[in-house]
Amino acid sequence: MRCGPKRGGRYAGLRDILRLMLQIVSPKDPFDAIVVGSGATGGWAAKKLTAAGMRVALLEAGKKITPKDFTEHKPAWQLPYLGMSPKIREERPIQSLCYACRESNYEWFVNDRENPYTQEKPFHWIRQRVLGGRSMSWGRQSYRMSDLDFKAASHDGYGDDWPISYDEMVPYYEEVERYVGISGNSEGLPQLPDSVFLPGMEMTCGEHILRKAVMDKMGRVVTIGRVAILTKQHNGRAACHYCGPCEQGCVTFSYFSSPWTTIADAQKTGRLTLFTDAVASHVMMKDGKAAGIAYLDRVTREPREVRAKVILLCASTLESTRLLMNSNICNSNDALGKYVMDHIYGGGASGRMPELEARPWAGPPDRPNGIYVPRFRNVKEKTTNGFIRGYGYQGGSSPGFNWGAKGFGASYKNALRQGEWHMSMSMWAECLARKENYVEIDRERVDAWGIPVLKIHAEYGDNEKKLFDDGKEQAATMLEAAGAKDVRTHGEYSVPGFCIHEIGTARMGNDAKTSVVNRYCQAHEVPNVFVTDGACWVSSACQNPTLTMMAITVRACDYIQHEYAKQMA
Ligand SMILES: Cc1cc2nc3c(=O)[nH]c(=O)nc-3n(C[C@H](O)[C@H](O)[C@H](O)COP(=O)(O)OP(=O)(O)OC[C@H]3O[C@@H](n4cnc5c(N)ncnc54)[C@H](O)[C@@H]3O)c2cc1C
Ligand code: SF4
Repeated sequence: MRCGPKRGGRYAGLRDILRLMLQIVSPKDPFDAIVVGSGATGGWAAKKLTAAGMRVALLEAGKKITPKDFTEHKPAWQLPYLGMSPKIREERPIQSLCYACRESNYEWFVNDRENPYTQEKPFHWIRQRVLGGRSMSWGRQSYRMSDLDFKAASHDGYGDDWPISYDEMVPYYEEVERYVGISGNSEGLPQLPDSVFLPGMEMTCGEHILRKAVMDKMGRVVTIGRVAILTKQHNGRAACHYCGPCEQGCVTFSYFSSPWTTIADAQKTGRLTLFTDAVASHVMMKDGKAAGIAYLDRVTREPREVRAKVILLCASTLESTRLLMNSNICNSNDALGKYVMDHIYGGGASGRMPELEARPWAGPPDRPNGIYVPRFRNVKEKTTNGFIRGYGYQGGSSPGFNWGAKGFGASYKNALRQGEWHMSMSMWAECLARKENYVEIDRERVDAWGIPVLKIHAEYGDNEKKLFDDGKEQAATMLEAAGAKDVRTHGEYSVPGFCIHEIGTARMGNDAKTSVVNRYCQAHEVPNVFVTDGACWVSSACQNPTLTMMAITVRACDYIQHEYAKQMA
């Protein structure tokens, strides 16, 4: 009698253990979380959630790459087509417009034939489909936003404030910066708060002249670019050795890319399962909740499924929105897809710096960075010259030599030695959130995996164009203030998308009637779906966005760990 129930209990216990063991090895077992996309934001989601003890499936559409694929030390003359492979344009007519898509790394960028989209108006959509996404080739410029951005509507009356404030973001910025390593110098500007910095890179002589002149004569700051590149050893990664073409990889892992940092850390926990070549098609639903992700094997095209309790979409702004749209979720209020934004950029000025002597030299190491001029327009005012918001500049000054000189031998060498210092700056301006800029599913077209593609309707309005025109003019004024000669303005209005800072389309907000996700990136309609990449943005600011995207992802993951987990328990 005594043994019966005990034995029964013991057998039940063993069955439980066996079931548990099967669950651990069975791919059908639900994970705690699925993260779609392994780029800048997805890497952080994988790191944070595995560190919190969750079992995470990371789905990445592209293939795995290893340091053997890096080519930053391989000059173009060592490549089969000397850097001019016809395949780049043939297979990637849109991607090849991007300076970073080269013969040595073009396969990291999407094949435009396999990944079409419909441009209702011109939109250059630059995408990378490999482990690490665009963190493999990004420009690494990293700037905080401030309440001038998060609460922009309160400042000038246009659009909506974000439901989060700068103060709330500070701990998350700090967590990201301490881990990533951002080099730069503190300037104490309220509109461009300082990060937790590694030492800033050195400015050149021309840049020092510009910094002093622009501050003395105009009260504007010129600082060294703030970049996710190490200027000293940090978290097990080596300092940058200034070789230059970071977009082709980095054998010393000196710039931040997710595979060698966040994803590597997630893997070390033993709780990450990485699925590469997994092209997510839609979120699977059951009883009003997300049950998992359906995907296709990129190579074999076979359909597969993976299940989890929570889904995080980190597939990049427009891909995450496309996934929601193809799942027919989160759009009952018609907000999904609206307010696509991308910085208008490229307008500026350049000139000669006759004050400086350009001597023949072996040349400096190739500093992978430039200067930055923080926003000075409408910091206190609401409007200037009929426009709201502002812009920042990136640029630089260095000696140049006449490599294209005519002649041969001694005459060529002499002409080549007649070098001159140049200075150039180009602007990145805020793009207003406008409902008429939107994306939708094109029901007539599918990609190579049979997944319906996006149709994009986006164009710049008057405000972006006024910012652009003003930015050109002001660049020329600042160069002249620094003593530059032959100053010329440059740049035409850029094509939307081409700044590669696309954001918006699943905006966050407190009101479920007008927004897609809440202040923690949690979908109003499907609470176990989170969208933490740029899709959740409310306004664009003028700073490069990735640092803020990563900080927002970290914040959402903390919420999942501490608050959402309680709701699920
Ligand atoms: C040349 C270049 C220069 C840039 N310079 C800067 C800069 O200086 N500063 C800055 O802030 N930003 C810069 N950016 C932009 C920056 O790279 C992006 O903002 C950032 O990478 C976005 O992070 P993400 O995680 O949202 O997307 P990504 O890093 O693009 O990663 C998305 C991942 O999701 C995967 N994915 C997409 N769809 C699916 C699917 N259906 N199923 C499975 N996986 C999927 C992709 O393959 C990709 O790996 C630059 C970008 C480029 C290309
Ligand atoms: S310049 Fe620096 S960060 Fe860029 S690839 Fe070379 S070592 Fe790496």
